[in-house]
Amino acid sequence: MTEVQGEAISRILGAASFAAERHRDQRRKGKDASPYINHPLALASLLAGCGERDPTVLMAALLHDTVEDTATTFAELEQAFGPEVAGIVREVTDDKALPKAERKRLQIEHAAHLSRRAMLVKLADKICNLRDILVSPPTDWGAQRKREYFDWAKAVVDPMRGVHPRLEALFDEVYARKPAAAP
Ligand code: ZN
Repeated sequence: MTEVQGEAISRILGAASFAAERHRDQRRKGKDASPYINHPLALASLLAGCGERDPTVLMAALLHDTVEDTATTFAELEQAFGPEVAGIVREVTDDKALPKAERKRLQIEHAAHLSRRAMLVKLADKICNLRDILVSPPTDWGAQRKREYFDWAKAVVDPMRGVHPRLEALFDEVYARKPAAAP
């Protein structure tokens, strides 16, 4: 391993432990209520598995929910991980002051204007969320709610088409498993 690679691994692991610390009291919404950190780890691992080697993207994936879902600020991320990582997290963070429906609409509207790196994080997020819904859906979600979520995720992903064919193929694979409408 070169010194540069060693440095990158150390920064990536630093982001993973920062995220683990910030999300330590949170659980995923799914029925198995897994530790929240499993979700950012799943994004980073999916991206790395698809050949993504940019440490900035992997770190942003690990940190992508820290501002939206914990008391972490962008200034803190910038201080600890630099302006590029903080900038990507900013691009994929919803404004929680807005009503949920508006936030969901804005994700679709903003998708085409994201930086390439932010698109990769966003795509991985949508793939992981759909996979989670299939494996461990929130207990109060019926088929219709799941179907709506799948369609919304696709509406966010479609404007980003062309950014990463391999990730898009993985998205299409999981989207194809959209639950059937309740009879
Ligand atoms: Zn997420």
